[in-house]
Amino acid sequence: MSKLDVLVLAGDGIGPEVTVEGLKVLQAACKAGGIALALEHGDFGGASIDKHGEPITGAMLDRARQADGVLLGACGGPKWDKLATDKRPEKGLLGLRAHMEVFANLRPARLFAALAGASPLKPERSSSGGVGFDFVVVRELVGGLYFGSPRFIEGSPGNRRGANTMTYTENEIRRIGRVAFETARKRRKKLTSVDKANVLEVMALWREVMTSLAPEYPDVALDHLYVDNCAMQLILRPTDFDVLVTENMFGDILSDLAAAATGSIGLLPSAAVGERNALYEPVHGSAPDIAGQGKANPLASILTIAMLLEHTARRSDLAGAVNAAVEAVLAAGLRTADLARPGETAVGTVAMGDAVLREVQKRLA
Ligand code: NAD
Repeated sequence: MSKLDVLVLAGDGIGPEVTVEGLKVLQAACKAGGIALALEHGDFGGASIDKHGEPITGAMLDRARQADGVLLGACGGPKWDKLATDKRPEKGLLGLRAHMEVFANLRPARLFAALAGASPLKPERSSSGGVGFDFVVVRELVGGLYFGSPRFIEGSPGNRRGANTMTYTENEIRRIGRVAFETARKRRKKLTSVDKANVLEVMALWREVMTSLAPEYPDVALDHLYVDNCAMQLILRPTDFDVLVTENMFGDILSDLAAAATGSIGLLPSAAVGERNALYEPVHGSAPDIAGQGKANPLASILTIAMLLEHTARRSDLAGAVNAAVEAVLAAGLRTADLARPGETAVGTVAMGDAVLREVQKRLA
């Protein structure tokens, strides 16, 4: 029997509510799949500030590095908004990512057929042959414009100058490139590298290194797009894309554009992976406006579990069952409040989680 050691950091607001539903599904999948699951719960975000005075303790950071995978809920909320920036819950998330050395952010964007009407895109663009778009943005997470130096604001008031630097080494491009090629290899074997090689030297290097990796992956078709054109094409023909790989800030923007096209933030999972560690989290925040009301959509957390099963447990069969279960529940017409259209009845967090659990158990029986 294989083993899976998961550290759970449910955090604040709706974090704990949706994480419970994700864990129900993880436990069922592991039981059916013969995986011995060890779960440990830790303090994170505002909950950790209240208890320990910091958003994540040093001991918890070390524990996170030892776990096979870390599952996050969400962190933050009005209670901690007045704290200094470096004391706030969100700082714990950045610290965790840095400590775990996770450099690749995988953000799937998938339009479920049953929710085609929820997408702001016209059906003839968002679906092809009745199948909604389904692609993954692989965003470089620890380099590029957000982290490059020099970075400064200098000079006297009224005459100041600000600067940031987009910089990548060949090694940094190669390692994110490999994650992207491997991701494409497990999917429809199409990779689009997104850059601005016509204007920026760093992006010309990006394109050169991505191209140099292609012979190692002869089964994957690589093409290149400039980031401005890519933003347009994602709206015009999203069904043509499989995996996209790009720089940190470009990825930040494109993955949010893709998120909006799916219809609800309550549906979006993500993973941040490194050489040894992986961190799994729904894209949404702690949603203080609906926390404690039992109406948060748990599907992002459940789809995050599918990513954990795929990438850390390396069990595509179990991940596939979870994804198919979510699809089935949506096809049957179940909707949480964020997905319900006028006149449709909404179910709560637990009812949605239970419905997916039943479908998972049915598929893995
Ligand atoms: P948010 O994602 O928490 O909420 C945005 C809107 O989407 C809200 O109306 C919310 O009700 C809705 N929403 C979000 N998740 C939902 C779900 N699962 N089901 C139904 N509706 C959902 O973003 P925000 O309001 O900008 O931020 C709230 C807090 O969360 C802030 O403190 C912010 O810093 C924090 N935050 C944390 C993370 C994280 O932990 N990774 C990410 C983003 C924001």
